[in-house]
Amino acid sequence: MIIAMDGPAASGKGTLAKRLAAHYGLPFLDTGLLYRAVGARVAPFEGRPGFEAEAIKAARTLDAGKIDPESIRGVGAGRLASMVGAISGVRAALFDTQRQFALQPGGAVLDGRDIGTVVCPEAEVKIFLTATLEARVARRAAQLDALNPATGVRIDTVALRAEIAARDARDRAAPHGGFRPARDAHLLDTSEMDIEAAFRAALAIVERAIADTAGGRT
Ligand code: C5P
Repeated sequence: MIIAMDGPAASGKGTLAKRLAAHYGLPFLDTGLLYRAVGARVAPFEGRPGFEAEAIKAARTLDAGKIDPESIRGVGAGRLASMVGAISGVRAALFDTQRQFALQPGGAVLDGRDIGTVVCPEAEVKIFLTATLEARVARRAAQLDALNPATGVRIDTVALRAEIAARDARDRAAPHGGFRPARDAHLLDTSEMDIEAAFRAALAIVERAIADTAGGRT
């Protein structure tokens, strides 16, 4: 079974996808990390003429097994990730890595932006998360706080809001056009849900899809 979990920044997809993967004993890939890793590698080229070519080169030579997630979770890496994500050569280079992961025997859970539309259009279950900008800013601020518990540095939520809104706009305008719910995706608005409620709702969607498949209705 392939589960595709898509949605905007800080919609909760990483947490939910990871929990679904653990629940069903499936391998999990956070595809945003691939884009973040490419973005981090080309950070020195930002604003310079060779940026696009360097990003494509970085995507083609990326070793997904060597990514250090903790070093690229921050806001800056997210911004660079959405810049490299707008380059079609980068998307093409990362497509194979994602496809291979999805097609392993037994299936997988992938979260991202275009899993249900481009990477795995054949996924048995597609969930597209939404949440208001305010809810997502509050969540991301809490996550960033938890990343740096010892520093006591207060998160600047005004800057964070502007950053997430700018990333939303870049993702929506991205030429690949995959950042939208697939026609057969289940929409789940998590704005008013805590993580437990969102997980129960996501689980119910997957269980229904499994029952429908078993009953021959999909
Ligand atoms: O999911 P996360 O916030 O880590 O993703 C960072 C950025 O990487 C996104 O804003 C998006 O621009 C890009 N991305 C993408 N396609 C994916 C996953 C992430 O373009 N499948």
